[in-house]
Amino acid sequence: MVAQLAARGVRDRRVLEALGQVERHRLLPEAFEHRAYEFQALPIGEGQTISSPDIVALSSEALALRGHETVLEVGTGSAYQAIVLSHLCARVITIERLPALARQARQALDALGVRNVAVCLGDGTRGRVEYAPYDAIVVTAGGPVAPPPLLDQLARGGRLVGPFGPMQAQRLLRIEKDASGQLQEQAIADCRFVALIGEYGWQA
Ligand code: SAH
Repeated sequence: MVAQLAARGVRDRRVLEALGQVERHRLLPEAFEHRAYEFQALPIGEGQTISSPDIVALSSEALALRGHETVLEVGTGSAYQAIVLSHLCARVITIERLPALARQARQALDALGVRNVAVCLGDGTRGRVEYAPYDAIVVTAGGPVAPPPLLDQLARGGRLVGPFGPMQAQRLLRIEKDASGQLQEQAIADCRFVALIGEYGWQA
């Protein structure tokens, strides 16, 4: 896995190590466990998917984490991205809109002994002001645009990474907020995520 990710251009040592450590098979329904180490999104129930390892690696690398950060994730799903982040920063706040998946994610985090990830239930497009500002934010479902509340809750000097654009094909963007609060955007890759559904996403 690590060698394949490196071959695809992932350079950040800590990101490669984190991806190498997380047991993706433990986050999948039994029927898909044997495919856990393929570079593919796979079904996790409720019409949702676990993200592909290369997308998780690219997103994580773009967040440029050093270890001390508080990171917000929108779209907990299987908790795969959240667990990778748990190795790279101090604290992860992750939001999931579907109760069954939030419950499943909490169970997975407990079973794996991950202690620095808090799962919240709700519409992540509104962010979570209680814990803001965030040093980094990752959105793991595809929305039309970067939700304005998330850009508000991003710290100066922070990075937001997420897939934005039409429902069938998005572009993974990295948006950086500089010290004066100005936003700068950069495209990382073309991608296709499940829909971001909420007030600042698509309608249910
Ligand atoms: N990060 C996950 C990816 C899961 S797919 C992983 O690594 O496996 C995206 C998830 O986003 C789905 O579980 C979906 O229910 C959730 N989602 C979609 N819109 C959302 C919203 N507005 N707020 C929170 N979660 C949302």
